[in-house]
Amino acid sequence: MKEIFEEEGKAQYKEIIRAWLDAYKSKGGEFRDEELIYRYLCLLVYYLFLERPEEEHNLGSMMKLSGATYEDRRQNAALWGILRNAQFRHPLDEELAKRESLEHSIGNDDIDELFDFYEWVVFQQKEEADIEYDMGLLIRAMYEYRKDFHRNVRMNRESLSVAKKALDEIGDECKLFLEEYTPEKIKAYLDIYVIGQEEAKKNLATAVYNHYLRVLHPDQHLIKRNVIMVGPTGCGKTELIRRIMELVNLPVVISDFSGVVATPWKGRNKEEALAHLYEKAGKDIAKAECGIVFLDEFDKIIPTRRSVKADDINNELQGQMLGMMEGTVVDVPVPTDNGGTKNIHMNTENILFICAGAFEGLEKIVAKDLRKGSSMGFASDLKSEKETEITGENIKVQHLIEYGMKPELAGRLGILSVLKGLSKEEMRRVLLEPKDSILMRYHNELNAERDVKLTFTEDAIDAIIDKVEELKIGARGLNAVLHNVLETAMFEVPSNEAIGEVIVHKDAVNGVSKPEYVLDLP
Ligand code: ADP
Repeated sequence: MKEIFEEEGKAQYKEIIRAWLDAYKSKGGEFRDEELIYRYLCLLVYYLFLERPEEEHNLGSMMKLSGATYEDRRQNAALWGILRNAQFRHPLDEELAKRESLEHSIGNDDIDELFDFYEWVVFQQKEEADIEYDMGLLIRAMYEYRKDFHRNVRMNRESLSVAKKALDEIGDECKLFLEEYTPEKIKAYLDIYVIGQEEAKKNLATAVYNHYLRVLHPDQHLIKRNVIMVGPTGCGKTELIRRIMELVNLPVVISDFSGVVATPWKGRNKEEALAHLYEKAGKDIAKAECGIVFLDEFDKIIPTRRSVKADDINNELQGQMLGMMEGTVVDVPVPTDNGGTKNIHMNTENILFICAGAFEGLEKIVAKDLRKGSSMGFASDLKSEKETEITGENIKVQHLIEYGMKPELAGRLGILSVLKGLSKEEMRRVLLEPKDSILMRYHNELNAERDVKLTFTEDAIDAIIDKVEELKIGARGLNAVLHNVLETAMFEVPSNEAIGEVIVHKDAVNGVSKPEYVLDLP
């Protein structure tokens, strides 16, 4: 091997390494993957030539470098670290660019074989003194390598026992939940707070229940079904998840997908939600890996028709999300205690993804499809695109694909759930019925310090609903309209102790007058 370095330059090193490997094989030496070893040796020699002082261009340095390798690549092995830095300094260098693929493919067995090969090479030397010297270096390199390897095995064993304890705890929590809840009971809980949306409530209740079963019985390989909720703004998609969040004892995060891009340095990254999940799980990775992630505004993942380039980027993001939902190990950047960031490895196999979006324009695709299906006549039964309402019955995964979602991604979203825009009657119920309705929250605010009644006349309620309809943002409009109506009262009433009741008439809603203040009789 020394001969490699006796050459004038590095041009022939590849041929020389190949010749040595052939000679080794002809003496009965074997490699699990000869090509891998060859590439590894070439890279080592190349690095020696490129970055090390000339006096180090020898077999000893190479063996020392090899000793700085260990199997668990998550642990930033010394050699890979050195090569990574070299690549950073020479970003366009083609040889160093091969480092990454090599790093991922070379394993313990390969390094063991490499040491056998070095030993053979050392004994090819003629001088006894050279053999003794190089064997000393080889033993030193093997020692370094094994020491690191065993340290990692020990570390892995320790982290395994921590993980096992965490899994036991999670199992207990799952059992506790499943003892109390069935899909029907989960739905009953949602019924207290969410008006209508029967199908979505059933779908979600089943998905959450199955998620618990999957986490509790990993050996049964139950099918994972992520959920996609399609429905207009302000119809209760996020509200449903907020209620699920209150109910379950596994970590849940709500994350807005708008602004998430494939290239993280240009915007928010998709791992952000997983980082929140990790925080939510009290930095317990095992718990985070069983959590629920809600991705709002998920329709933003669909390519817009702006430009081909934007399409490519969005397609890339869809591909990345597919990987995440399929259950891969994802590198998630999380903040460290000393203000920096570090990557943790999160397995997403058991994470339930619930995605939601308004998917504006999807109704046109559904309408077109319905028209195609009824080309036999019945034209009078058909509604125009505008009138067509997406329902659980008429929507198909195919429509999402036509909308621009990659087929593989659409396929991973096993439960397709439709939420409808709220009718006037439902909007009225949203205002008045839920246990902590917006109205109730205003009422509580007025009552925080002393008893003040808040009353709405029937026609005032009607007027509120009409105004909300005009805003076209679903029940989100309730808050906006109520805020306008009650703004002055919320300001004035606390400073006037004589006021015992605030009555809102229709005129106050329409901005013609203020709400009526009724004074307490002395
Ligand atoms: P989106 O569907 O856009 O996610 P949200 O669920 O955030 O809308 O709804 C906005 C607000 O409107 C919620 O805070 C909730 O108070 C109310 N809301 C919307 N839909 C319903 C519903 N079906 N039942 C009860 N409240 C609702």
